[in-house]
Amino acid sequence: MLAYFRKTCGNRLTRFGWRRVTVLQKYDSATMSSLEIVLYPHPALRWKSKEVSRIDAELRVMVGQMFELMYAARGIGLAANQVGLPYRLFVINPTGDKDEKDQEFVFINPQITRRNGSETDEEGCLSLPEVFGPVTRATKIIVDAFDLDGQQFELELEDLPARVVQHEYDHVEGVMFTDRVASAELQKLQPQINDFESQFRNRQKEGLLPSDAQLMATLLELQNARTQ
Ligand SMILES: [Zn+2]
Repeated sequence: MLAYFRKTCGNRLTRFGWRRVTVLQKYDSATMSSLEIVLYPHPALRWKSKEVSRIDAELRVMVGQMFELMYAARGIGLAANQVGLPYRLFVINPTGDKDEKDQEFVFINPQITRRNGSETDEEGCLSLPEVFGPVTRATKIIVDAFDLDGQQFELELEDLPARVVQHEYDHVEGVMFTDRVASAELQKLQPQINDFESQFRNRQKEGLLPSDAQLMATLLELQNARTQ
């Protein structure tokens, strides 16, 4: 067991309301059917996401799809930003094994309240496939968040789970792991990163992807639908 619950608070996120607008409901449904992992430099990866203001059936479907996408891509963590959703939430399973359900954790509106120690290890990212670089992270953290039932929890994590949570937490802040790779090491990765950049821009030029302005307008609309 890699993690344990230290305490459970009685706060329920659902009390923040169930506000819903018909237009946004349609929009949500359209979005949910088409979730996919976005690649660098999609603007969602640079979006500082806002807190989710309600947990409902649609959000649970989104989270379920995020787990499916994460397992299909052989990942151990996936942030909402990485599927083009500008929400402060991420999912992890440090084992990467979809049968190990007790290792699945959903972090909604997470906060890392304590960081201790320091360790450098190699990281990769599903939004920058095949790019790996050394990142220094805290060895131990305390994180609190809400789960899918709107229940607040606090976890003390160390080693790999702590690293995964710090990586995913960075995503909801709009930070990529490559931002934390030291410049000498980053130089070695730069050609691969540049390839992702040019592929993305070419797809936009060919009309296969919306422009950054259009993508950001969508992010803003999604943000307005589910945050304060
Ligand atoms: Zn990542």
